[in-house]
Amino acid sequence: MPANILNLPFYAVTALQENDHDYHIDAGVRQAVTHCIHCKASNPQGFGRREQMVKDLPMHGKRVGIYVNTRRYRCRECAKTFYEPLPDTDEKRAMTTRLVAWMGKQAVRRTFASIADEVGCTEFTVRAVFSDYVNQLERTIRFETPKWMGIDEIHLIKPRGVITNIQNNTVVELLHNRNKETVIKYLAGLQGKEAIQYVAMDMWQPYKDAIELMLPKAKIIIDKFHVVKMANEAMERVRKSYRESLTPKQRRGLMHDRFVMLKREHDLNDEEALKLSGWLKNYPELGMAYRLKEDFFKIYDAKTKEEALRRFAAWEIAVMPDVRDTFHDLIRAWRNWQPYILAYFDHPVTNAYTESLNNLIRVMNRLGRGYSFEALRAKILFSEGAFKKQTIRPKFERRREPERATRDFAMAYMCLERAMPHQPAEPAREINYGADISTLTRLIEAGEI
Ligand SMILES: [Zn+2]
Repeated sequence: MPANILNLPFYAVTALQENDHDYHIDAGVRQAVTHCIHCKASNPQGFGRREQMVKDLPMHGKRVGIYVNTRRYRCRECAKTFYEPLPDTDEKRAMTTRLVAWMGKQAVRRTFASIADEVGCTEFTVRAVFSDYVNQLERTIRFETPKWMGIDEIHLIKPRGVITNIQNNTVVELLHNRNKETVIKYLAGLQGKEAIQYVAMDMWQPYKDAIELMLPKAKIIIDKFHVVKMANEAMERVRKSYRESLTPKQRRGLMHDRFVMLKREHDLNDEEALKLSGWLKNYPELGMAYRLKEDFFKIYDAKTKEEALRRFAAWEIAVMPDVRDTFHDLIRAWRNWQPYILAYFDHPVTNAYTESLNNLIRVMNRLGRGYSFEALRAKILFSEGAFKKQTIRPKFERRREPERATRDFAMAYMCLERAMPHQPAEPAREINYGADISTLTRLIEAGEI
């Protein structure tokens, strides 16, 4: 008899065949059934056998099929017939439970087609296993509700909402779209939402409406990044407006040097500063737009919101009619969102968070191909190794001092008590803050998810 290469203790392997692609393994359940599965009466009568094929984990690069010679029984009491239950086998599918568990995890990282090929099943089956796996994760994994919540846009096939924990630099949810109803539905089901103090977001009215409705106590903050981005965009519009009047060579040069213009002035090296001054001298409107861009960024150097407001007022006056149209969007956005933009100065969202989120958004654009939104969402939220967890120990409780009258008596027990661990009233608990943004970015860049 071949050795039990299956490593499934409940089965005895009786024969083994292999070819270039597959293992075909004959096996039987070691232990015969002792009781009727319907009425529990003992000693049911053997009533024939049948062969059941069960897929198992791929082995040595080959697909594995186990042909189980399954016993059939007939109960002497209730007269019902039944097949013996197969241990370690999935209830729904002709697969071992370990294969199903492995496929679920693999499906988070790989395409369904590659798994179907490796196992020797259809993509439809992989999708069904994956869907069950995600449902199980949803039930068992609970992310801590952020006290500082971020809502941003991320592009996965189309624009989606991404919910983040700003203080912990984690992603806690991906929403199908950026609609008000979608955000409301998410917040309605969110445990502990009363504890949310701040929500940082882009200037996107549906988000604001949803937050004001569902989190009336939370303070809305427009993240600096989304505001200053508009100043860069305005300057870019001016740069592009020159394109028509330039020679191809000049156009390429201006295109090539746009990074110099997008940089902050104080970050330029000598060479870059020289390049910049050349462009700005030759193209006066671009010079004006660059100056306005730089001055707009400086509004954010203000220490208080009053100072920021004064800086904005001075900046707006300096917007010359020649470039006023280009900066119109930014000026209008500021007017529409002023209280929420200024709220940033009371509660600044850290640059580290914004930068790491933008890195994630950048690399996630590559992920989209070949996956459904559900698969992408699971990749982001449930990839093993990306969770940021913390174990909260129970609070220190002082050991109780014995009463004076009983002290002598208690002395006798001291040694014993010292030897026994002092059990705190509450157990340690683990908090899962969600998927760490920097770790996710690294895993995506390394092609591991
Ligand atoms: Zn029975």
